[in-house]
Amino acid sequence: MLKLRWIPVALLLLVVVSCVVLYTADQSQLNRNTSENRETLFQVAAFKPFAQGEYDGVITYAELAKHGDFGIGTLTGLDGEMVALNGVFYQIPTDGKPVKITSEAETPFAEVTFFEADQTLYVADAMNYSELTAYIDQIIAPESAMYAIKIHGVYDYAKTRSVPVQTEPYPTLTEVIAQQTIFTLDNVTGTAAGFRLPSYMDGVNVAGYHLHFITDDEGAGGHLLDCVVRNATIEIDYTYQYELTLPENS
Ligand SMILES: [Zn+2]
Repeated sequence: MLKLRWIPVALLLLVVVSCVVLYTADQSQLNRNTSENRETLFQVAAFKPFAQGEYDGVITYAELAKHGDFGIGTLTGLDGEMVALNGVFYQIPTDGKPVKITSEAETPFAEVTFFEADQTLYVADAMNYSELTAYIDQIIAPESAMYAIKIHGVYDYAKTRSVPVQTEPYPTLTEVIAQQTIFTLDNVTGTAAGFRLPSYMDGVNVAGYHLHFITDDEGAGGHLLDCVVRNATIEIDYTYQYELTLPENS
């Protein structure tokens, strides 16, 4: 039996212990949420309706930057290709010269994450685009996950494209791509950045690989169509969470 005078002490101890337990639980919840958010693929607009001609801005780049420092997309009116690396968002317009995107510019379609490599590989030998993607395919597992991918290397050849800004009524993406400008880059050092998504995401996004490119000197880039890369450092960020923001008028 507890002596009567120990009861207030025991109660006080109980309160202190409870507070510590609750605080610790709260902190671990906070940490888990933070790391989960960094493992989220954040996407602006579903791909299919976007490709039908929904090119009005949905959110600003200031807002987009809160959800990731790495990714791809475009700007209002389908004004060129966007690539984000290390928190810097670049537009590659049809003249092929990357420019930094202002925070008040808006995006009708984008996909970003906070890039943290879970796996890093180095391949010295030259690989063309299909060899590169086949190589990554055999590394990653499971097929059903989402992967953010960054490939830095010497590009003996890179074929990229950009698309011209559109006005309403907006044509479909297929019609705009018919007016694309192609760039052929030889012997440049740069980074291809983007995602590999599972087949079940087709429609809401694009299944398979979608990579945009920018040279180290920020002089050229675009949506990557083909390449030959050597001395490649391939970084893969396994991504398990997905957040989709739809246009309010959609
Ligand atoms: Zn693209």
